[in-house]
Amino acid sequence: MREPMTGDLDRRLMYGTTVAAAITERAAARATDLADHSGRRPCLAAVLVGEDPASVTYVRMKQKRSAAAGIDSRLVRLPATISTDELVATIRALSDDDAVDGILLQHPVPAAIDERAAFEAIAPTKDVDGVTLHSFAAMALGTRGFRSCTPEGILRLLDAYGVELAGRHAVVIGRSPILGLPVGMLLLARNATVTYCHSHTENLPDVVRSGDLVVAAVGRPRFVRGSWLSPDVVIVDAGYNPGNIGDVAFDEALDIASRITPVPAGVGPMTIAVLLDQTVDAAWRRCDPGFDERAL
Ligand code: NAP
Repeated sequence: MREPMTGDLDRRLMYGTTVAAAITERAAARATDLADHSGRRPCLAAVLVGEDPASVTYVRMKQKRSAAAGIDSRLVRLPATISTDELVATIRALSDDDAVDGILLQHPVPAAIDERAAFEAIAPTKDVDGVTLHSFAAMALGTRGFRSCTPEGILRLLDAYGVELAGRHAVVIGRSPILGLPVGMLLLARNATVTYCHSHTENLPDVVRSGDLVVAAVGRPRFVRGSWLSPDVVIVDAGYNPGNIGDVAFDEALDIASRITPVPAGVGPMTIAVLLDQTVDAAWRRCDPGFDERAL
């Protein structure tokens, strides 16, 4: 991936790396303040079920970044054969544990487990990954609560680059509960006009062409083609496919878009930054019930 450079290309690329670094730095400073104030560091507990190599790598990376930000981490490793009831009981124990501020259930969990039941065992006050129904409703209604990390990261990235959202037509391709659906909700809350596309959408290229902002969250390499895009569109490529390939044909889109996220170094780094930030929020909320992170 090209590094930031001067000139037209640099003006068009939206780098998550720099924005995520700033969020992480601020979270680390707030973690230090919390330790000074309460005598303890924030603590993120990660639950990993099974041995899926990608999940193991993600959890390891989250632990490393947590440590760098002054956040303690705890890893609970469970066999892939665990039952839903046992997993729910483990997560409930973490929800009741005063030493834990945030809980992350690395997903997807093995297919035999009821993932929704496991997510719902996370106390809403510790749902720093924004996966519970409580957090989902808070995102939909714009009330206080944790956000899904990648969607929130996308919104923060767009804000950091000054992308106007109110009144713009946002086309979101994908409607998964962790990405497409919540990102559309957050864009709607910012007064964008939102269209969701999915695998049953007809005339997808025409729908995408009507967007001022396109969020690609499909999971198919180079799926969105340059010919689908309107001039000066803003593109957020949330896709992350093997070989560091996004969901948008980057080389085709680059000549058309006014702004675009690269893959990697675009949306990806934002996810962990938001997770850490929300973990520090959770710790502050538990230590000071009057704490309002939106006021910061
Ligand atoms: P997912 O759960 O598989 O959802 C994919 C979505 O794409 C579904 O809503 C599906 O529609 C839709 N879709 C599939 N084929 C389509 C087609 N031909 N036309 C239109 N829509 C189609 O995937 P996900 O978890 O949301 O992830 C999407 C991508 O984002 C993946 O590349 C993933 O690696 C990446 N991701 C990145 C991060 C990050 O931190 N950067 C985080 C999460 C995910 P239906 O609902 O109709 O099936």
